[in-house]
Amino acid sequence: MVRRNEIRTGEVAIEPPAASNAGLVFIGRIHTPWTDRLMCPRQGRADGPICRIEIFEPWRPALDGVGQYERVEVLYWLHLSRRDLVRQSPANDGSVRGTFSLRSPVRPNPIGSSIATLVQVEADGLLVRGLDCLDGTPLLDLKPDRTLFTPIAPRQPGDDEVG
Ligand code: SAM
Repeated sequence: MVRRNEIRTGEVAIEPPAASNAGLVFIGRIHTPWTDRLMCPRQGRADGPICRIEIFEPWRPALDGVGQYERVEVLYWLHLSRRDLVRQSPANDGSVRGTFSLRSPVRPNPIGSSIATLVQVEADGLLVRGLDCLDGTPLLDLKPDRTLFTPIAPRQPGDDEVG
């Protein structure tokens, strides 16, 4: 169930420390058909609508080479999310779970990620399918889908030790 900043039965909010600047830069903006959280899908679908990822200057040259991948991982800042819940009730039915066991947009640092299917590369952005964010959501990063990479090094002794 989509949230509109209410506290639901059983939920726990904390007083978060003052936000400090982690040095993130918004490198673009995501254009989607959804202007209200009630309309927005909870997770993107490969057969979802085509959305446009606009890349700001001076980052556009960083698009070079992206076109060779079928899928890209899109990282974005869920800028309208509250950030103070440690236990949440996603279904608003009295059952609660810890924030880190959920993919809820409500989290201390509201970073969202989706694996999107690449439709077209343009000079100033990408057309993709598979997003689930509101129109105007700030873009943090783009990376090729990690499953398209093979491990570089074979397994080493000690790989299984707890750090
Ligand atoms: N796929 C991402 C993930 O798993 O990290 C995000 C999943 S989150 C459940 C998607 C929901 O976040 C949408 O259904 C919408 O309710 C909400 N949402 C989307 N864009 C948002 C934004 N810019 N600010 C706050 N909430 C947003």
